[in-house]
Amino acid sequence: MGGVNDAIRDSVLFTTADSVISWSRRSALWPETFGIACCAIEMISAGCARYDLDRFGVVFRPSPRQSDVMIIAGTVTRKFAPVVRRLYDQMPEPRWVIAMGTCAISGGVYNTYAVVQGSETFVPVDVHVPGCPPRPEALMHGFLLLQEKIKRSRALAGTPLDRIAAS
Ligand code: SF4
Repeated sequence: MGGVNDAIRDSVLFTTADSVISWSRRSALWPETFGIACCAIEMISAGCARYDLDRFGVVFRPSPRQSDVMIIAGTVTRKFAPVVRRLYDQMPEPRWVIAMGTCAISGGVYNTYAVVQGSETFVPVDVHVPGCPPRPEALMHGFLLLQEKIKRSRALAGTPLDRIAAS
């Protein structure tokens, strides 16, 4: 017969606020729905039933204001980069960026005056997914890496709660 101690052991969980916040953040990543070039076709495949990104908590959203992940899937021209930056600025924090494909990572084969030679030049990139194009499995792996990065981050760092805990 279980006593009060057993009941407590079965129903009480001790953890840290940082762990709970990072768990909730990485369990519900909402990327913006937009693609730029051919890589976007693989990104769309990753979101469809065969690969089913939803099972990782990754659900595409129609507005940057509802999104916390930007997937740069394609070739970014110099004319278009300010638009991508504006979409990034419209996302609430915390937010993350995945550069998908060699074009988004480095300009790829388009070493020309018209193409941005790497998304890092206009937004902070958290994960690079190489390939031309990367397969949906590679994008899924990119999301797992992003989840690992969020898991290692300290959500409360620098906040008043963090200072109270440290005192
Ligand atoms: Fe297209 Fe390849 Fe560039 Fe992706 S990396 S946008 S597949 S050319």
